Amino acid sequence: MNNAGAARGTARPAAGGEFDREADVVVVGGGGAGLPTALFARWLGDDVVLLEKAPELGGTAKKAAFWYWVPNNEPMRAAGLTDEKDDFLRYVARLSRPTRYDPQSPTFGLTEWEYAMAGAIHDSASPAAELLAERDALPYRHCPAVPDYWAEIPEDKAPYGRVLVPRDASESMSDGGENAIRTLSAAAARDGVEVRTSHRVQRLIVDAGRVVGVEASTPDGRSHRVGARKAVVFATGGFTHDDELRANFLGVPAYRGCAAATNEGDFVRIASAVGAQLRNMNYAWMCPVPLERSGRPDLVGMFSVAGDSMLFVDKTGRRVVNEKLPYNELAQAFFRWDGTAGEYPNLVLVQIWDQRSQDHSASTEYGRLIVPPGADDSHVIRGATLDELAGAIAARLESVSDRTGGLRLAPEFLENLRSTITRFDELATKGVDEDFHRGETAVQQLFNGPVKDEPGRVNPTMWPLAETGPYYAALVTGGTLDTKGGPRTDPDGRVLDDVGEPIPGLYGVGNCVASASAQAYWAGGATLGPIIAFAHRAATAAHAG
Ligand SMILES: Cc1cc2nc3c(=O)[nH]c(=O)nc-3n(C[C@H](O)[C@H](O)[C@H](O)COP(=O)(O)OP(=O)(O)OC[C@H]3O[C@@H](n4cnc5c(N)ncnc54)[C@H](O)[C@@H]3O)c2cc1C
Repeated sequence: MNNAGAARGTARPAAGGEFDREADVVVVGGGGAGLPTALFARWLGDDVVLLEKAPELGGTAKKAAFWYWVPNNEPMRAAGLTDEKDDFLRYVARLSRPTRYDPQSPTFGLTEWEYAMAGAIHDSASPAAELLAERDALPYRHCPAVPDYWAEIPEDKAPYGRVLVPRDASESMSDGGENAIRTLSAAAARDGVEVRTSHRVQRLIVDAGRVVGVEASTPDGRSHRVGARKAVVFATGGFTHDDELRANFLGVPAYRGCAAATNEGDFVRIASAVGAQLRNMNYAWMCPVPLERSGRPDLVGMFSVAGDSMLFVDKTGRRVVNEKLPYNELAQAFFRWDGTAGEYPNLVLVQIWDQRSQDHSASTEYGRLIVPPGADDSHVIRGATLDELAGAIAARLESVSDRTGGLRLAPEFLENLRSTITRFDELATKGVDEDFHRGETAVQQLFNGPVKDEPGRVNPTMWPLAETGPYYAALVTGGTLDTKGGPRTDPDGRVLDDVGEPIPGLYGVGNCVASASAQAYWAGGATLGPIIAFAHRAATAAHAG
């Protein structure tokens, strides 16, 4: 952990006994899942204590744009847009389990568990969002023009209109998370949620098979026992910042990503120690990241790869991917395994752009690599000619070889780069990317970023690179926003043991528990919308006891 927090202790459960403080509901973690859960529980009349490991509230959610994907939301209904549950479930099933998808099956090919979890999102996200808005904890505005990430597939019967954002977020929305955490925290203070920061929950307190509290430690080395009469709800985020868990559970060697630095998989250890079953450990919400910034606490990820006269090439100088894919999909491209060479040939791709993109697409928004003068440009590699640029890229790769297994440019890089640019220019002139289909879907256009106005052009995502320099480059790889595996819960947030029975008193919401989305990132806001739904359901179930 990169702040002065408490060190990790044992996760073995402690026995019951005296408590320093007892509440009805103890919420662990104060980010995107914990704050709504605490509020919903408080509004039901429960006495709520929220324990947060970091010195401040917010977690990863504070960095987020905080789009939240809410099927069949109130503004959609008001506008007469239909978003039927079965249609929603077909879309979800088609993307989460494409190999099992069957539109005729009663669960559309999902397991019973996945089907129930996805159904709970449709049932509960909108009522939860409305309640947060009514109580002024998360007032929103509707984004009718934002498409789902697969708006074009036939299963998407409500391709536009499911996204809400915090009402006062700026148009670019990069301050959405700060806005949301501010209003949620203010509501928590106003309505009497007791918040204790710098409290790292280390283990459960268990009495006669029931979770009755937690032990937390503070940076001064003290241990605090907090009892829970009804429930302990974990909302502690994923395991992005635990190198060992990432290396052993994720299906790909993803680099450290953008989650809060305090998200170290604590709940994986704590829940395993009481017999919870783990699911979906092999997937993460993924994002391309600038290689040299991976691991830095201010990392935000490249949500949109800006620039039209811009392309990605591999170490041989060839183009291998549609650079404008949505971030979760683009990030997968880095981890193609070459079974002949015994390597990940795309582990690091090189983004290359010219002066035109530098002049018209520079911005400090969300992890953009083309930045304006005055911004941190330590990742930018420069060359007056392509020849010079190739030399500078080779030198930069050498300087980070300890992180890439010694990856180097191939001898034919420069020659291939020239022919790759010639081909890209041909396609850009036509406005049709016959090789990788860049710019062909609505979301790729939405995330295009600022480009020079060229009236009448067919494809705003592409433009030929200039024949002369200067040229620019940066090294890109794949990282996580956060992971999405952990203990399996039922649709009401109850953590399940090895035979699928709830562990009494133990709940989980958000990225610390198993997402039923499997590999899919259905749409912008598809982490936080479902999280709000499950926060509401878990608080309701915990209240009932
Ligand atoms: C740059 C960026 C932009 C994003 N934009 C969006 C978006 O627009 N829409 C969307 O849906 N998603 C977005 N996401 C993802 C979204 O932020 C996360 O999915 C969401 O925050 C998850 O909520 P959470 O509560 O599970 O985890 P977090 O928000 O990370 O909260 C977890 C909290 O638990 C605390 N914690 C950890 N361990 C302990 C412990 N042992 N004891 C006590 N506390 C603990 C952490 O300190 C942290 O505060 C974005 C992510 C990033 C990085």
